[in-house]
Amino acid sequence: MGWREWALRKSPWVFHLSTGSCNNCDIELIDCLTPRYDIERFGILLVGSIRHADILLVTGSVNRRSAPKIAALHAMAPRPCLVVACGTCACGQHMFKESYHTVEPLDAHVPVSVYIPGCPPKPEALIGGIVQAIGMIGRERADAPPRGPADAPAVPGAAGHG
Ligand code: SF4
Repeated sequence: MGWREWALRKSPWVFHLSTGSCNNCDIELIDCLTPRYDIERFGILLVGSIRHADILLVTGSVNRRSAPKIAALHAMAPRPCLVVACGTCACGQHMFKESYHTVEPLDAHVPVSVYIPGCPPKPEALIGGIVQAIGMIGRERADAPPRGPADAPAVPGAAGHG
């Protein structure tokens, strides 16, 4: 591992993208910023631009509007930029599978490194998933081919609220 990967592990910057979520996953992510969970004390920072991101965290099932934008957004990120699927919708479309407004799942558009199931996942599971992604920095190519949810390691406490 080079010095760059070492430094990235100490302060991963996360860009949040909602591809059509119901907002509950997003609220759980905001919960991670509150004093109770305070992810910033681990050096994890939510950023407003994909150009500053080390991790792309996606919530919601992919719909017709968001689908063309996901790969383009991922391409704009500096490398490595790992993708974390947050919530059952992002992991595998959940109840929206084969709905009129959904298209292919997220991992058909970008290489997903970590899947965090749950509807919505608890903040502890979100933090666990981000920590897993941090552990992959320097070990996994960001342009690796898509993997299925079954290939991903389990995130402790990812049972979620639902
Ligand atoms: S996984 Fe559940 S909470 Fe998250 S966006 Fe889908 S329906 Fe909403």
